Amino acid sequence: MTTERRGFATRAIHDGQEPEALTGAVVVPIYATSTYQQDELGKPRLGYEYSRVSNPTRDRLETNLASLEGGLAARVFASGMAAVTAFCQMMKAGDHVVAGDNLYGGTPRFFNQVMAKFGVTFTYVDTKNAENVAAAMRGNTRYVFLETPTNPLMQLTDIAEVSAVAHEKGAEVIVDNTFMSPYFQRPLELGADMVLHSTTKFLNGHSDGLGGVIVCSTMEQAADLAFIQKASGAILSPFESWLILRGIKTLAVRMKQHDVNGRVVAGFLQKHPRVEKVIYPGLAEHPQHELAKRQMRGFGSMITMDTGSLENAKRMLKQVKLCVLGESLGGVETLISHPATMTHAALGEEGRAKIGLTDGMVRVSVGIEDVDDILADLEQALAVI
Ligand SMILES: *Cc1c(COP(=O)(O)O)cnc(C)c1O
Repeated sequence: MTTERRGFATRAIHDGQEPEALTGAVVVPIYATSTYQQDELGKPRLGYEYSRVSNPTRDRLETNLASLEGGLAARVFASGMAAVTAFCQMMKAGDHVVAGDNLYGGTPRFFNQVMAKFGVTFTYVDTKNAENVAAAMRGNTRYVFLETPTNPLMQLTDIAEVSAVAHEKGAEVIVDNTFMSPYFQRPLELGADMVLHSTTKFLNGHSDGLGGVIVCSTMEQAADLAFIQKASGAILSPFESWLILRGIKTLAVRMKQHDVNGRVVAGFLQKHPRVEKVIYPGLAEHPQHELAKRQMRGFGSMITMDTGSLENAKRMLKQVKLCVLGESLGGVETLISHPATMTHAALGEEGRAKIGLTDGMVRVSVGIEDVDDILADLEQALAVI
């Protein structure tokens, strides 16, 4: 892994974001071009031939993200799901994946409804317990795919422990690190082999663009994924690359404030008489609080509360004024959602019951507004249940 010479906030602002050579422009330009003039036959300048293959704005973002996760290289894609798709394209028929049983809904949907048609098989286990991962490993297991913390139950997986189990069986580990961002959790440092993000969330941070990334720990992975960018074409546009570069400059300050506000909101909800249960890794009562302290540098701002019933959740969500009712997370504004009918509807009643997701659960992605205003909004919304 790259040695961290400079601090995280400095790298977020400067790595890949050096002033441009031609004019000294401090901000990375948006290279809005599909193609590049060649000096003579077979001599593209600086290697740029066509923007599906490479683009300077995209290159800069890839350099930046590799630095922040401590990887060798990064490859960006049109959305988080396009990154999941690219990961799947690294496999072949006959390969097997052990995956967490509470992943972002779109991931198992793609695994089961698209990849299964191509002869790749998946076993879903509760990765909280590394023994479950060990028991599910087969001779043809190529990857272990996990997400920690999970959505919306905020359960953690010990990345180092699962990585040791996978490596012993010759498999690689890929971690969806969307919820924590590299500011709070760096899976490669804990032994994982690749890191995936929906940059749509905390990395971009402003709810104004979609994107995805895979950060690599080996040049083989990086070369494989560069070929997939070129061959499949689900690349990130120069404009979206620029938006994320812009968002990332404030990643450190945003994450610090998300964490401060997250802790305050979790504490408030925990004491609130109308809230039956609060799930947040930063609370001492979270069953994996010790692992959270060990594995993460902060607890973030994703909180799930149980309001007791669908009716209560509905009433409360109709009443919020500052908090924005909607899907997604990780923006500067507080976003609030109802997993059972929104993000996790596709699981079905039985599937939700299996993972412990109730109809009364409400998920909050705490933003970086003045926290007193967030508390006041939640207080008046909870008052109606
Ligand atoms: C949103 C999300 C994705 C999918 O990303 P898109 O950018 O919406 O395609 C994948 N994983 C997690 C954890 C997410 O929150």
